Amino acid sequence: MTREKMLIRLKGKINEKRFEHSLGVEYTAASLAMVHGADIEKARLAGLLHDCAKGLATKEKLEKARKHNIPINKIEEKNPDMLHAKLGAFYAKAKYDVYDDEVLSAIETHTTGKPNMTLLEKIIFVADYIEPNRKYLKDMEIIRKEAFTDIDKCIVHILNSTLMYLEQRGGDIDYMSKMTYNYYINNSK
Ligand code: FE
Ligand code: FE
Repeated sequence: MTREKMLIRLKGKINEKRFEHSLGVEYTAASLAMVHGADIEKARLAGLLHDCAKGLATKEKLEKARKHNIPINKIEEKNPDMLHAKLGAFYAKAKYDVYDDEVLSAIETHTTGKPNMTLLEKIIFVADYIEPNRKYLKDMEIIRKEAFTDIDKCIVHILNSTLMYLEQRGGDIDYMSKMTYNYYINNSK
């Protein structure tokens, strides 16, 4: 599928703000790929499409996940919006002709990360958090710098902020975010 067609389709599925965010993740992921030596085109593609399922209503996310046999865990059951990552990978393939497993898995893991991520998965996870349209979050300048200088440290920093934020709000702490955090806190040099 041409990029032009992809953009038109994506624009019809998510709101203007989310679309801008997607473009931000696309070029941020491309920049990170340049610095860390990942495939630039794959990074762009995963970045552009990572939130392609985010526009579905909460209820629809559950329905579509069930319909397409996407496994739903307990936390996703309670917070179906989290399913947009898995659904995003599904739709990238079904609706945007993306067949590259590396790209699809980077889309699938972009919200929580996972232990032992590939470079592309790390890049999308980080780009989603730091892209320039993001509102200011704690330690943002430092986290943005770390993204380009020490991506594993950056991942720990992001998860630390996210987990603390979720804890303060009394929100569900996603099991996978915690797994990712524990992995990278023990494995980053
Ligand atoms: Fe997302
Ligand atoms: Fe996003």
